[in-house]
Amino acid sequence: MNTDDLRKVPTPSVQQADNTNSTENSSPAESAEDSNKAKRSTGFISKFWPNRSTITVSFMEDLSDELKYRVERVIRRWEPHMSLAMEFVEGRQANIRISLNGMQNRSELGNNALYIPADIPTLTLATPSDHPSFEPDLLHEFGHALGLNHEHQHPDANIPWDMDRTYRYFKERFGWDENDVNSQIFEVHYDADVFRGSYDKKSIMHYQVPNEITLGDWEVGVNTTISEQDKINLRKIYPSN
Ligand SMILES: [Zn+2]
Repeated sequence: MNTDDLRKVPTPSVQQADNTNSTENSSPAESAEDSNKAKRSTGFISKFWPNRSTITVSFMEDLSDELKYRVERVIRRWEPHMSLAMEFVEGRQANIRISLNGMQNRSELGNNALYIPADIPTLTLATPSDHPSFEPDLLHEFGHALGLNHEHQHPDANIPWDMDRTYRYFKERFGWDENDVNSQIFEVHYDADVFRGSYDKKSIMHYQVPNEITLGDWEVGVNTTISEQDKINLRKIYPSN
C-alpha cells in the first residue's frame, strides 16, 4: 500500500467516557474473569475506523521490550487482512491504548476508543502474559478494537442454549448475573447497521460454548487463531481498493 494514501486517525480527545459500547471477553482463561456490566453493542458499521487509515497503538505501562514486541507481533496478525495500518507509538496519545494489567479482558468497540480520556486504556487484558490464553485473548480483544462483534451473537448462530445451565455457568465462573448473560451471550443484534459475514464457529470472536450448557450435542471449542472467515470479514470491512 502506498503510505501516502493513509490517513491518520486523530489522537483522542479528553471527553467523558462512554462505556455503553465496550466489549469484554470472558473466555477462555479463568484468570480473565470479567464482571463488566457494560452493555455491549455488536459490530456496528458506524464503529469501524476510516478505511485505509492508520491507527496508533500504545501501552499504558512500562513493559519490557520483549513483551511489547510480542504483543505487537500478535496484534499485527490482523494486519495482512485489512487496509488499516497500525503504528506503535510511545506515550498515551494513541488511538488504542493497551493495559496488560487489567481486571478484565475488554476493549472499546472500534472507534468508540476515540471518546475515552487519554489516561484510560481502551483495551485491557487480565490474562497473564505467561498464560496459554494470552495471545488468543489479545487477538480477540483487538478484534473488538477493530469493530468486530461477538460471533456467538450472530443472528445465524442459533445456538441451542440450555438457558438455566448457561446462567449458572457464567455465574459460577465469572460472577455474571442474568442481565449480564442476556446481554453478553443471548442477545442477538439484527440492526441494519450491523456488519456480518457468514456465521463461523471457528471465529476468534466466538466464545467457547461447552456442550454442558447446550441442548443436545452442540459445542464450540476454544478458538485460538484468526479464522478464514474472520479474514474474509476484515477484507470486506476494510477493503484495499
Ligand atoms: Zn469479546
